[in-house]
Amino acid sequence: SLTDKLGQALRNLRGVGRLSEENMEDALKEVRTALLSADVHFKVAREFVDRVKTQCVGQDVLKGVSPGQQIVKIIHDELVRLLGEGSTELSAARPLRVLMVGLHGSGKTTSAAKLGKLLKKRGYKPFVVGCDIYRPAAIDQLEILAKQEELGFYADRASKDVPAIGAAALDAARAAAADAIIFDTAGRLQIDADLIEEVKKLRARVNPDEVFLVADGALGQEAVNVAKTFHDALALTGLVLTKLDGDARGGAALSIKTITGVPIKFVGTGEKTADFETFHPDRLASRILGMGDVVSLVEKAQENIDQAEAERMAEKLRKADFNLEDFLAQMRQVKKLGSMESVLGMLPGMNGVKLDASAEKSMARTEAIILSMTTQERRKPEILNGNRRLRIANGAGVKIAEVNQLLKQFQQMQKMMRMLKGKGGRKMMRQMEA
Ligand code: GDP
Ligand code: MG
Repeated sequence: SLTDKLGQALRNLRGVGRLSEENMEDALKEVRTALLSADVHFKVAREFVDRVKTQCVGQDVLKGVSPGQQIVKIIHDELVRLLGEGSTELSAARPLRVLMVGLHGSGKTTSAAKLGKLLKKRGYKPFVVGCDIYRPAAIDQLEILAKQEELGFYADRASKDVPAIGAAALDAARAAAADAIIFDTAGRLQIDADLIEEVKKLRARVNPDEVFLVADGALGQEAVNVAKTFHDALALTGLVLTKLDGDARGGAALSIKTITGVPIKFVGTGEKTADFETFHPDRLASRILGMGDVVSLVEKAQENIDQAEAERMAEKLRKADFNLEDFLAQMRQVKKLGSMESVLGMLPGMNGVKLDASAEKSMARTEAIILSMTTQERRKPEILNGNRRLRIANGAGVKIAEVNQLLKQFQQMQKMMRMLKGKGGRKMMRQMEA
């Protein structure tokens, strides 16, 4: 359509374009590496990147950023969406029953107390239950935390029957008028069939509203198997991601979310009981991707394209009196963000990407050509005869063919704009700008 053609012509002149397999390649490689170094499972990383790539092909590149930068922003937004998907608040059931499960050392006991503290702040009367019968120290640990936070507590150090302990705890909680009962369970270093069986029986007995997998944010490639096994056996309702105060980038969360679809509910950010937060997908996405600079750069680009200037240009386009001087102004607008090179330097390991180097070069040449024109020539390009063109080419240090090509593109654009001037043109222009 005419609108498409005009849009295309403008894009060509502006040195921006659409995302393609080729111009995304390096950035996608960089993103995949970032995900892997964040401990995202390699299959999850590959599938995620491939899926986003497919969605991206053909999308317009924003003015003022490179395809590589744009793709990082798109990936980031997609990560936010995926990580945040289904992240509802806690079940509204009262009394609320929460079962904490997970590997040994993942932070179940600590998180049970942390959740108790958080619920107390929200007006619940919480009650924590020690079901880790294998390590007496674990029950002591929970009891100390319960005392410290003034939470109800139940344990039966003499019993070896975990489901029975759970049932007795429910009675005790009821007697204490508690309305949030949190069950802390035992973990093993690795997934253990007997242990899973035991927790399954406990689950059946206490009928929890929430079953939280507590996972160490530093969990590596094995996160997928861990999550899958627990989810298959226990129908998890949420994930608590711990130890995000450390170096871990938290890629396990993406693996777990992708494989199980279980929403992330809380995040542990330290050893103290106060170090516990509801989940923020944008923070975790930035952490996993580790390219926050680029993301904010693209956001800046979106804002930085000066609104007033854009409107002035749109008006000129509508009146079809857009000349080469305006075109130069438009180009400088794009360059406001700094040189393409310095902008690129913000992309980790992305210095000297070919496409951007050539895009910057071609922009610089276009600018040089226009700068070699007199003001009169810029305003009335139709006066540019052979002699003038040769002088401009020499002045700009380019071949005369390049000057001709620029002018030809510009003429085409002007022609189309004149055609749009008539009825319906305004509407079309508006659509194009949207
Ligand atoms: P469990 O075996 O799953 O019950 O794990 P614990 O709750 O006993 O926690 C194991 C260790 O991890 C303890 O030293 C906790 O203090 C520590 N821990 C738990 N959650 C966090 C967290 O969010 N940040 C940090 N830095 N340490 C944590
Ligand atoms: Mg424990």
